[in-house]
Amino acid sequence: MAGERVNLLGLPRTELEEFVATRLGAKPFRARQLMKWIYRRGAAEFSSMTDLAQDFRSQLADVARISVPEIVEQQVSGDGTRKWLLRMDQTQGIETVFIPEPDRGTLCISSQVGCAMDCSFCSTAQQGFNRNLSVAEIVGQVWLAHRELSGGELSEPRARGAEAPGLKHGRNITNIVFMGMGEPLANYRNVVPAMRIFLDDLGYDLSRRRVTLSTSGLVPQIYKLAEECNVALAVSLHAPNDALRNELVPINRKHPIDELLTACWHYLDAQNGRSVTFEYVMLDGINDEPGHARQLARLLKGRPAKLNLIPFNVFPGTRYRRSPAAAIVRFRDILNEHGVIATIRRTRGDDIDAACGQLAGRVIDRTSVRLGTRLTAQSQPSAQPSAQPSALTSAHPAVRPPAHTPARIRPAQLR
Ligand code: SAH
Repeated sequence: MAGERVNLLGLPRTELEEFVATRLGAKPFRARQLMKWIYRRGAAEFSSMTDLAQDFRSQLADVARISVPEIVEQQVSGDGTRKWLLRMDQTQGIETVFIPEPDRGTLCISSQVGCAMDCSFCSTAQQGFNRNLSVAEIVGQVWLAHRELSGGELSEPRARGAEAPGLKHGRNITNIVFMGMGEPLANYRNVVPAMRIFLDDLGYDLSRRRVTLSTSGLVPQIYKLAEECNVALAVSLHAPNDALRNELVPINRKHPIDELLTACWHYLDAQNGRSVTFEYVMLDGINDEPGHARQLARLLKGRPAKLNLIPFNVFPGTRYRRSPAAAIVRFRDILNEHGVIATIRRTRGDDIDAACGQLAGRVIDRTSVRLGTRLTAQSQPSAQPSAQPSALTSAHPAVRPPAHTPARIRPAQLR
């Protein structure tokens, strides 16, 4: 056998066509057949691909494989939200969440093991960062959820001629959002090919409005994305001025709000997009005052923007509190009165720690200095206690103490 078998999961269509041509001397339509099996029917074994010739199947098995992540644990919330912990290696895991709603089903996927962005209100940030996910590991989350939600029936032979349901026609996943663990634009190289599979009509065949990339604000990559891939953009804003955003989202010290918004408007122009969704986590006494709402309205008024207000979700070790419901409603109303569309995101799955910002997975921190610390000239770097590697078993979802003491928040500054 020549070399390691290639994992076909997540291979973009052109690369798969080239692979079957060069390694197996097969025509491009074989690649298309394979894609239908892998994504629509959820096949992981070449032997189950009954409309491919026996010979071709055994040749394939010699040079290729379809490796999908392994489920360590599944939890189902009282509201129907499901969370899977997926094994990435012996000790680490990432989380994927499915949120059912009457008119759609949203799969929230991860892009990295942990996250290096160091946002002070996010549970994933407290875990630190280990590594990027591969294309197969990103696409694998959708593959697994699709199979689990279909009751494992996808690859069963159907009536002759009948197509197995793709995502579009199936009951389950209608939207995919990169709002799980990690900063997707920091793993650009693998996130973009994965999104191509989500959009490909032989892949998951989703429209570009149903695939959302959420970023903390990596400006150069937003410009790059504008040239290369057309999906919906969400931006984690969380503050209406740089002083406050510098504390909540440290990457702001490198790419301040002005620069970020300019990149967002460029993205819409280049992609002919409708609007950017700005996420704003509601933190009691930090960013939820009427003055903040007015400042935010000045930033976004007349722009193609929608604001999504997210009630803060608590996690062990956080010093933040959720804004009272009345404060969130008042905040929304001020924005709406000023002509900015704002909605309040309904919290889902918080009883199983599956809500926004609660995904922690199992991460062995490899960062030596936190981003927030690195980007603050005057701060003294502190030693980072790394989490101890422990075997990843389904027994106990270990809750780790915060890996660092978060920086103190200065009182919100209003212009
Ligand atoms: N890194 C990307 C995507 C992951 S986070 C990003 O920053 O956009 C997905 C959303 O959940 C982001 O808007 C994030 O700011 C928000 N979030 C993080 N922690 C949260 C918490 N504890 N409560 C509510 N929302 C949170």
